[in-house]
Formats: sequence, structure tokens, C-alpha cells
Amino acid sequence: MSGVDVRIGIHASTSGELIHALREAAELKCQTVQLFSRNPRGWEARALEATEVRAFRRERERLGLDPLVIHAPYLLHLAAANPEVRERSIQALRQEIQRVIQLGADYLVLHPGSALGRSVEDGIRACARAIRQVVRDVAMDSLCLLLENTAGQGHQIGWRFEHLAALLEELGELPVGICLDTAHAFAAGYDLATEAGLAETLVQLQATVGLERVRVLHLNDTRIPCGGRVDRHWHIGEGNLGAEAFRRILAGAAFRGCPLILETPRKTVEDDRRNLARVRAWVAPTG
Ligand SMILES: [Zn+2]
Ligand SMILES: [Zn+2]
Repeated sequence: MSGVDVRIGIHASTSGELIHALREAAELKCQTVQLFSRNPRGWEARALEATEVRAFRRERERLGLDPLVIHAPYLLHLAAANPEVRERSIQALRQEIQRVIQLGADYLVLHPGSALGRSVEDGIRACARAIRQVVRDVAMDSLCLLLENTAGQGHQIGWRFEHLAALLEELGELPVGICLDTAHAFAAGYDLATEAGLAETLVQLQATVGLERVRVLHLNDTRIPCGGRVDRHWHIGEGNLGAEAFRRILAGAAFRGCPLILETPRKTVEDDRRNLARVRAWVAPTG
């Protein structure tokens, strides 16, 4: 028995039924799972039925999926300069937080959004203000918000660790942590592909957000070059990060005990099986 409890999961598809994602993850022998509680690209979300919520919570308990991670919709632009977009985003975040608390989620992963039309600093402040405004009137239960580092596409904020550190600072005592995505970090210019690059990235991460604030790791490879600033996920070990990089990340102490979620492309379930098998082998090498 290994002394470290490693929890590995995938972003599972709901196919219109939330409970489906739990079963999909369990079938793949995952210990944790991430899902969308609703269509990630639409503003409208249908209300959850009480029976649906009860069945979901029971099934999650039965399958032992822990933690339960929910990814917020992509449309939220809490840093938006446009007041209408901002107001809509705030309302959607409020609604999403209420949904995921109903579902018993441990983490809600959120992209800090785009600062189009304002400076990065103003975008960061606007994003923090919006989160504060929502979280202040919700009983968060045991839910923790996780700000995800981005690839830095377009006017996105959150691609530099300094942005995330500034957000954490602004959010002070609120239950907020970081979700670190390996493909996004690499696209943002953190060279996780080499031993020296990983070491340097960890130094920077520790000096800004602090390793202990990283609560979930999104494990993704990418075909985008380091610093390419484009968000595209690829199969583990088959992209520019490469197998060695993941072996090093998983063998090191920096993220030990951190739940690992794969958001790799899936044409068939075999893609998930292959990606999961690699990660499992590298987390706990046999022989
Ligand atoms: Zn994400
Ligand atoms: Zn991610």
C-alpha cells in the first residue's frame, strides 16, 4: 500500500443527465470526477429537480467519488468592462454556486475571464469584486472556488501566476484556491517540459500563489508550443509537454495528494482509458 492517497479522475460527460458523468467516471475506475452542471456555453440552465439532486448525491456517495469538482460555464466574464456582460456573469455565477452546493460539490473551477477593454490590473480587481459580491451573500457550505490558470488567449487574465496571486490577495479570507492546468501553464510560457523549466515554474508558483493553495491539478498535454498562448488540450505524453514531463510532475513532491483531473480529448472511451493508464503508471510506478 502506498502512503499517499492519489485520486485520479476525468472530466466526464453528462449526456443530458448529471448522474451519467458519475457512472462514466466510476466505470473508468476513477476516484474523483469533474463535470459541468449545465451547458457550459449557454446562459440558460434548467433548474435541478429535488429527486434528481437526491439521486445524484446518493450515487456519488455509493461510487466514492471524492472530491466532486464542477467546472463553471465558459461564458462567465467577471472581469468584463461591459456592465451588461458583467451583471449577467455575476448572476450566472450566483446561480451556478447554488446549483453546485445542491449537488454537494467540493470545488467549483472558474476561469478569471477576459479583461477586454480594461487593463489587466483593473480586470483582476473587477473579477475579485464580482466574486466577492456573489460569495458574500451565499452560504458556501464546504464549497471552495478554484481559480484556474489560463493559457492567456486574447485578453484573458489569469495566465500569469501573479494574476492569480493578486486575485487571491483581493479575495482575502474567502474559500478560494487554485486549479493548475498543465497545458494552460505551458501555453502561457511556463516550460513544464524540461526539468529546469519545471523547477523554475515551481519556484514561481511558490513565490506567488503558494503551492498549498493549489487544490486540483488539471493534467493535459498540448500541441501548442511553450508560450503559444492558445488553449488546446491533447493526450497525455503525446504533445509538446511529453511523457517525461508528466513523469517528473507526478513523481515530485510538489503536488502530492492533489486530486488529478484529465481533460484530454475523447473520441471513444479508449482515449480515456489510455490517458488514465499512463497517469496511473507514472503516479505509482510498479516494480
Ligand atoms: Zn478550465
Ligand atoms: Zn483545465
